[in-house]
Amino acid sequence: MANFETVEVSTDLLIIGGGMSACGAAVEAAYWAKKHGLKVTLVDKAAMDRSGAVAMGLSAINLYIGQAAGDNTVEDYVRYVRQDLMGITREDLVYSIARHVDSTVHLFEKWGLPIWKDENGKYVHEGRWQIMINGESYKIIVAEAAKNALNALGPDNIYERVFIVEPLMDGDRCVGAVGFSVRENKFYVFKAKAVLVGMGGAVHVFRPRSTGEGLGRSWYPPFNTGSSAYFTLKAGAEMTCQEVRFIPVRFKDAYGPVGAWFLLFKSVATNALGEDYMKTHPDVLEQYAPYGLTKPIPANLRNHLGLIDERAGKGPIYMRTEEAIQRLAQEMPDEKQRKKKLKELEAEAWEDFLDMTISQALLWAATNTFPEEKPSEIAACEPYFIGSHSGASGAWVSGPEDIAPAEYQWGYTNMSTVKGLFCAGDASGASSHKFSSGSFTEGRIAAKSAIRFIVENNEEPKVDAAQVEELKARILKPLDTFEQYKGMTTDPDVNPNYIRPKQFMFRLQKLMDEYAGGVSKSFTTNKYLLEKGLELLEMLKEDSEKLAAENLHELMRCWENVHRMWQAEAHIRSVLFREETRWPGYYIRADFPNLDEENWKCFVNCRWDRNTGQWEVFKRPVISIID
Ligand code: FAD
Repeated sequence: MANFETVEVSTDLLIIGGGMSACGAAVEAAYWAKKHGLKVTLVDKAAMDRSGAVAMGLSAINLYIGQAAGDNTVEDYVRYVRQDLMGITREDLVYSIARHVDSTVHLFEKWGLPIWKDENGKYVHEGRWQIMINGESYKIIVAEAAKNALNALGPDNIYERVFIVEPLMDGDRCVGAVGFSVRENKFYVFKAKAVLVGMGGAVHVFRPRSTGEGLGRSWYPPFNTGSSAYFTLKAGAEMTCQEVRFIPVRFKDAYGPVGAWFLLFKSVATNALGEDYMKTHPDVLEQYAPYGLTKPIPANLRNHLGLIDERAGKGPIYMRTEEAIQRLAQEMPDEKQRKKKLKELEAEAWEDFLDMTISQALLWAATNTFPEEKPSEIAACEPYFIGSHSGASGAWVSGPEDIAPAEYQWGYTNMSTVKGLFCAGDASGASSHKFSSGSFTEGRIAAKSAIRFIVENNEEPKVDAAQVEELKARILKPLDTFEQYKGMTTDPDVNPNYIRPKQFMFRLQKLMDEYAGGVSKSFTTNKYLLEKGLELLEMLKEDSEKLAAENLHELMRCWENVHRMWQAEAHIRSVLFREETRWPGYYIRADFPNLDEENWKCFVNCRWDRNTGQWEVFKRPVISIID
């Protein structure tokens, strides 16, 4: 076996991930841990300052209720999320996040995040729930607060550049995690009394649109690869909404954000003939009643309407930036002010990209695009798994004691169905539209609850040494495989004894694209394709035993792809199980093209059995707590 030092770390609460939910968890856990004399340890595969989906910065905080000012109510937000997810949402979880989220945003501001204000000192809204920020350094500011909180508890509480692979189990309780450093030959064993998963969602499970030099470019940053789903599945946790992928419509090829255009600039999108596809398909909206007939129209239905035009050969689809800018400038009373406004709008348009998707600004520059003069193409991206945004995939977690119906409440808040295993952000399912602020808030909620769990279940974790040795051998095996066989061919990429992670990823992506309804199939699939996909996935799984890594970086790539593969399987199984089309702009089941409220207004949950290795997919009821 490759020569690796084993480093053992014992702690009370282990937070895995260093993104928004993990930072929220760190801040909150540190507060409660101090009161109880507990230790909190955080481990991130990257460096917290720039890790996770917020790495590049954001231009808006997408969830702010404005409760104190009476702008909105928590109930309004729950209704909005329920509508956007076509009725399928855990209202108790959404409610719980929404009622606390404003305090999180106020903390961000206190820590130095610049939030736009109007002349009366009120936050500038992009839309009803979104507020504008100068967010290039958003993640650095949030990570600094988390690091300060953990450092105040004691030294050596933060491990960066350590990739977590597997859970450690003591019977049915999760008691830690194992992984490896991506910089030095060290294998890490973290033993803990409770574990909080915040490893984000998954990208590059489906083949991306990008090719050539741009290969890998996607809307979702490349860092999150299904580790949350893999970890929770392998621990035996029940999962939910694994079929609810997210497909954003974004500026084509560089994936720039559209929120500011639609919401702040009130821009419209049209097909190439200038038709507003939101207005030309009332019959389709009717078909998806009641959701299609209620405002705001759910994101997936908006996608669907644009895709109908694209399929009918009416593309490209354009964001009418030039019309929006000229219209807003024309609203000014005189020529001088119109010119000034035009300059301001241009600056805001570019800044929006520079704050969070710099490459879109580069693409505009490279294609001589002046947004005030000509429209820009938008397109549906490839599918992603991001339960904190407009997708919903994640673990099935226990709801808050005071509001969750009995069916949704079996233990500590945000604990999965596995004892001691807590989830937040993309890792927890059926509570979409948390976004950055809500994920941080859910991290806080989950961490407070995890500390309570530790205080009330304060037993030392029992970790079987044989389990650790077996995991170490299995996790490092790709390095050994490469060493053993690399000399057998002249080209190290082509070898009958192993598969390198990049080729493995291409195979997974091709399979998902063609059988599970990716871009090349216009997001359409059916029972036969899905079954064939599962068959091929089974063979890919067999070949995953032959993954080979030349170095630590490739070792990470190997495990990222195994994690993606499990996310893929949970997805295919759930899409196959749900015999209807509920989110047509995310995927269409061609064999069940309609919405079926009678039989399918329910959650689709799944579980992988740790003892038998069998999958179960089943229904759970949707229970409303708000009118
Ligand atoms: P993340 O913040 O992504 O953190 C995941 C963490 O897990 C990272 O630290 C990563 O390094 C770590 N990790 C992953 N795998 C491993 C592993 N195996 N071992 C150890 N660590 C691991 N929200 C808004 O409010 N406004 C916006 O405008 C907005 N725009 C967005 C645009 C894009 C392109 C995306 C993708 C998201 C956007 N969001 C926005 C949503 C917001 O970014 C997410 O809701 C939030 O980041 C989710 O938090 P999280 O902690 O679940 O995941």
